[in-house]
Amino acid sequence: MSTELPRKRDVPEEARRRAEFLRRELARHGRLYYVLDAPEIADDEYDALFAELRSLEERYPGLDSPDSPTKRVGGRPGERFEKVVLSVPMLSLDNALDMEGLDAFLQRTLHQGSEGYVCELKIDGLAVSLLYEDGVFVRGTTRGDGRIGEDVTANLRAIRSLPLRLSGDAGGRIEVRGEVLLERRQFAELNEEREELGEPLFANPRNAAAGSLRQLDPSVTAKRKLSIYLYSVVDPRSLGLSSQKDILLWLGSAGLPVQSAWEFCPDGPSVKAFVEQWREKRFTLPYATDGVVVKINDTEQWSGLGNTSHAPRWAVAFKYPPEEKITRLTDIIVSVGRTGAMTPVAVLEPVVISGSTVRRASLHNEDELRRKGIRIGDMVRVRKAGEIIPEVLGPVPGKRTGREREFMMPDRCPVCGTPAVRLEGEVALRCPNRASCPAQLREGLRHFASRGGMDIRGMGDKIVAQLIGKGLVRSLSDVYRLKRSDLETLERMGPKSAQNLVDAVEQSKDRPFAALLAALGIRFVGARGAEILAAAFRDVPGLLAASEGSLSAVEGIGPVMAASIRSFLDSGENRKLLGELSELGIRGALPASPEEEPVPDESSTLLAGMRIVFTGELDSMTRTEAEALAKAHGAACSSSVSGKTSLVVAGREAGSKLSKANALGVRVVNEEEFLEMIRSGRTS
Ligand code: NAD
Repeated sequence: MSTELPRKRDVPEEARRRAEFLRRELARHGRLYYVLDAPEIADDEYDALFAELRSLEERYPGLDSPDSPTKRVGGRPGERFEKVVLSVPMLSLDNALDMEGLDAFLQRTLHQGSEGYVCELKIDGLAVSLLYEDGVFVRGTTRGDGRIGEDVTANLRAIRSLPLRLSGDAGGRIEVRGEVLLERRQFAELNEEREELGEPLFANPRNAAAGSLRQLDPSVTAKRKLSIYLYSVVDPRSLGLSSQKDILLWLGSAGLPVQSAWEFCPDGPSVKAFVEQWREKRFTLPYATDGVVVKINDTEQWSGLGNTSHAPRWAVAFKYPPEEKITRLTDIIVSVGRTGAMTPVAVLEPVVISGSTVRRASLHNEDELRRKGIRIGDMVRVRKAGEIIPEVLGPVPGKRTGREREFMMPDRCPVCGTPAVRLEGEVALRCPNRASCPAQLREGLRHFASRGGMDIRGMGDKIVAQLIGKGLVRSLSDVYRLKRSDLETLERMGPKSAQNLVDAVEQSKDRPFAALLAALGIRFVGARGAEILAAAFRDVPGLLAASEGSLSAVEGIGPVMAASIRSFLDSGENRKLLGELSELGIRGALPASPEEEPVPDESSTLLAGMRIVFTGELDSMTRTEAEALAKAHGAACSSSVSGKTSLVVAGREAGSKLSKANALGVRVVNEEEFLEMIRSGRTS
């Protein structure tokens, strides 16, 4: 009998064609997912295609090809970053899509796993490798294609929980690996903001985390509040570590964040018990997990088992199936956001999915609704994207009764009745009645009073809803006309809280120009855009006089933002609002006095006693402006870093001063974090 492997011609034509198709599809989806952070299909659909290709390749070895997605990891590293050759490849993990798959792994590793396994939750983020030299964080890379990663050091530094210096005895070069992630709440907030701004939504927390880390501006990373958990050491032996359990304990002792849910499991049954235990419990965690990673504990066994080109043989990722439920879509309502975007929302018969009750789900826009063919009254399949955001996948056509109705977007705002408009190049319909649509006013007031805006403490959602409902606020300027007696008429508002709110409103009058600009909720102008505008144009008259061309000539303001600012300023209603705010004595709306620095707060002692060094290129202000700002808040500024330096603000391409600060353990923040200190009045 011949022992020769089947050759290419032994592969049936149909299998070859299917494999080619699967490879093409997987490559396309891999690029969308890994490189563009914008997948088109759900993970389990991708996993099913992957599993089909793998089983075809196992069945017909003649199909073998080194460039098959089953032999590769991740996507190509992006062009925007320096490429780094990884010291040891960063691999993927083989998946077990059900208990049988997990059993197969446990059986296969019965001998090597006789000293037990470690079970960790599989965090839904992106893998990074961090290099520490003599205890100091010097470089961080993404996984890239597994061999060549992207240098994202500056962005990783913006993650607050990442220690820039290890604690304890950590000399020499130590490389550790783990996962960067975005917690559920941050993910939901980020997507809400993107939906409001008409930007494409991130499909899941992993793509959102990847998109936030793999972009060029560290201040964006800082703002998105990423977290990190570490789970591996590249050369454990050099640290005297011989088990996964010791690795996790060592990482924790070095001050690196380690997720607390891991467990040592002495045998197969305890591994399965861990998987069962977390099946539901994982929904109580603040971050999304899509499975459990099971690793053989004894690292001696790792080298014996080795790796495939795709994944280590000593570990497996058990993936929980995404929970999908069928429920009735009883209605479609239209919600109106801060910028007037009209969004169809499905009203569902309540159903528990991934740990919580779902009653509503955004249908995003009319096109999406048509594409999915959803009708009112349909039984629909629902799940949570990335286990967080409720999503209607589509109708169950077999369950139609004939009484279902097509939904049409209204041609008027459902709240104020103004005819809706569709802006050029946009899918969403908008209510153009910015000035007095109650829905926009409510969302606009929430934004106006928020911390990044006028920071009116105590003006929460319930108060805002009542102020608008009772007609006490009809325009943002009405906030500054509220009297204590008005507030006392609100539900659950005693004389003391009414007085507190009056005081908070009074205090907010002193917010600087940049804060007012951010508070106004001009489309595309976030906190950073507002800082840039305030530094460039100084005050309302300066901004009103700026043409679209001179706006977009400012670094950091693109043409879309410039056009949006100009159209905001050209509206009669908005000019009236700015005039009223100025008359009411709102500092940010008043002309700046000639000697006034761009954004200083003269009376502030926020940074008193601090010695600050600015280094690198700043985006929103010049070095002199930044120093003036720091001095106005009581700091002393210096041009060199020493043991006396209390804070280094590092801009783009910061060099030796930044390295020195890191070496001396001086606190380093980026420009956005510095501005946030000033805005929030807190230095920690
Ligand atoms: P993976 O996500 O299945 O598993 C490997 C990764 O798990 C590691 O690289 C590591 O980053 C991570 N991980 C998280 N917690 C860990 C822990 N405690 N210990 C060790 N590692 C841990 O594999 P992958 O190669 O990163 O990505 C493949 C998966 O991505 C697919 O299974 C699919 O679900 C998804 N994907 C989806 C699409 C799509 O179009 N929807 C396209 C490509 C990939």
